[in-house]
Amino acid sequence: MPAKKNKLNTDFFGREKKTSVVQRFITEETPAPQIPEPAPAPVPEIAPPPKYYLKNAMEDAVIDEARAALKHMTDMCRCEKCFYDVCALALNTFPASYATSEQGELFRKAVNLLNAETRNKIVAAVFDAITIVKENPIHGR
Ligand SMILES: [Zn+2]
Repeated sequence: MPAKKNKLNTDFFGREKKTSVVQRFITEETPAPQIPEPAPAPVPEIAPPPKYYLKNAMEDAVIDEARAALKHMTDMCRCEKCFYDVCALALNTFPASYATSEQGELFRKAVNLLNAETRNKIVAAVFDAITIVKENPIHGR
């Protein structure tokens, strides 16, 4: 195959350059190696905290009541498992009451407005739950 006349093998004045066999082979037969562009490093995504989230409206009220009730009990186990067992038992006596919370602030205001009847039910449910957990602790199992 005769050497093609192109800019690569002519000099500034258009005269054919003397090229070696290897050089002609490289320029005419070998396509430029395709070096893939290195993929840019992925930008780590930092998710913003969610503005809204679901919250069981009873949860904070029951947890607060359980904390208050257990504070003064000397004959009750103080471990975390027993505390959350009391909360779970009490919470399970109420129907699920989910609300959309915006950063928790509106929700906390709503809890403070719980009516007296609901508050009495929470106190009773926590008392019953404490009795059950105290007599049947399942910590350490
Ligand atoms: Zn315990």
